[in-house]
Amino acid sequence: MVKKLICIQCPLGCEIEVKLNEKMEVEEIKGNRCPRGYEYAMEEMVDPKRILTTSVKVEGGDIDLVSVKTDKPIPKRLLKDAMKTIKKAKVKAPICVGDIILPNLLNTEANVVATRPVSSRDSNHEATKNKRKKCNTMQN
Ligand code: SF4
Repeated sequence: MVKKLICIQCPLGCEIEVKLNEKMEVEEIKGNRCPRGYEYAMEEMVDPKRILTTSVKVEGGDIDLVSVKTDKPIPKRLLKDAMKTIKKAKVKAPICVGDIILPNLLNTEANVVATRPVSSRDSNHEATKNKRKKCNTMQN
């Protein structure tokens, strides 16, 4: 059996063919122009990984959800459990882009990080002012 993949490791997007035997073991990989493509194809066959993007509930924010993503790809087989864990999470506003919302998600060493800022409903609160300063400093 031959599986066809497009390598997503660089903009060249090589078309890779992976030949599998009857036991679905990798027999041959071709079409990759570099070793990264070989590793990508092997990983896709053995234990594919994906960046997870979703949102987390916010307490005390000017919006109720903050968009988040994992800061590195996690095994595709864990996506369902990861979504269950993230669904249970709540984070207090204010939030800066890049804030770690959930560290080491399911022991994958990937952190769930905020991809947008969220202000506190109480914009005059001292903690909110300090956080806003921190967010501004990080963006400069
Ligand atoms: S195989 Fe190498 S050159 Fe081709 S798309 Fe993948 S990373 Fe880029």
